Amino acid sequence: HDLRNEDLKDMQELGQGNGGSVKKVEHVPTGTIMAKKIVLIDAKPSVRKQILRELQIMHDCNSNYIISFYGAFISDPNICICMEYMDKGSLDGIYKKIGPIDIEVVGKVALAVLEGLTYLYDVHRIIHRDIKPSNILFNSKGQIKICDFGVSGELINSIADTFVGTSTYMSPERIQGAQYTVKSDVWSLGISLIELALGRFPFSDSSSDDSDLSDFEGTLSPARPGPLPPLTRAQKDKKKKRKSRGVSLQGGGMTMSILELLQHIVNESAPRLTPEGRFPKEAEDFVDSCLLKNPDERRTPKDLLKHPWVEHSRTATIDLEAWASTF
Ligand code: ADP
Ligand code: MG
Repeated sequence: HDLRNEDLKDMQELGQGNGGSVKKVEHVPTGTIMAKKIVLIDAKPSVRKQILRELQIMHDCNSNYIISFYGAFISDPNICICMEYMDKGSLDGIYKKIGPIDIEVVGKVALAVLEGLTYLYDVHRIIHRDIKPSNILFNSKGQIKICDFGVSGELINSIADTFVGTSTYMSPERIQGAQYTVKSDVWSLGISLIELALGRFPFSDSSSDDSDLSDFEGTLSPARPGPLPPLTRAQKDKKKKRKSRGVSLQGGGMTMSILELLQHIVNESAPRLTPEGRFPKEAEDFVDSCLLKNPDERRTPKDLLKHPWVEHSRTATIDLEAWASTF
């Protein structure tokens, strides 16, 4: 049952990322609905074949917390990866639509991501490398699964050059050039959870009056509560200039340079679940332990499955299927 492009009928565009685009498609011979990711790769045929071979590992990744894999093929000049379609989309899309996500749901997200990461690492020695809300998917059955993990070293190498703007969930040690470990994924999880609970990307000027941040142009969040002040002429010019250099991050019409953000992550204290008292103490503590800046102090996903907040989330009776039906 080899997958062929001719058997796939395009239904709908699901989104676009740095590496390519994702479409909802129907596999006509079987009637299966799939998500087809199209990755443009500037590499020799031999490298493409190597990537395809490496991607086959995904056939062996069987977990309730990991998107299932239907197959991959080359469709020159692209590589197409066909995976399970998640009808409620990614968590970034969900919070941008409905606002901050209930902390009980965020707890279930933490549990699912930790389970997925632990499975990938314990069973396959795979480190995810790209945990962020757009790679955490949700469906109307109430399932939460992760996608887009780094199975193929060659694929990572081939698209590395085009990845400029997605480093925002990157841990301090990674920014400083250290090796990737499972603990880097834990950092990214911490940032993602704050983003979901607050309904905005956590690195922004609105939460701080630190004068070092005076150069920040504004929040990166599209869902920032309250109206934004209009941009001054100078800010607009600056924004244009940054954009033309190709180093700006964008969201909700406000930008800040990626270098500023990376410096901030390395030099300043990590973001937290704030304001104090709004969220359960255990949730605050969990996020704090994900965001320890020293990776030696940060725990592994497997270890964090034993954290009280995660244990609580495991037994929490919140009905995710019912929640899914509300949007
Ligand atoms: P990114 O993850 O950086 O947003 P991608 O190209 O990986 O970029 O994905 C683009 C969008 O497609 C995602 O934000 C997500 O909303 C959607 N998407 C990806 N995979 C699936 C899937 N399996 N089911 C449903 N939607 C998906
Ligand atoms: Mg993705």
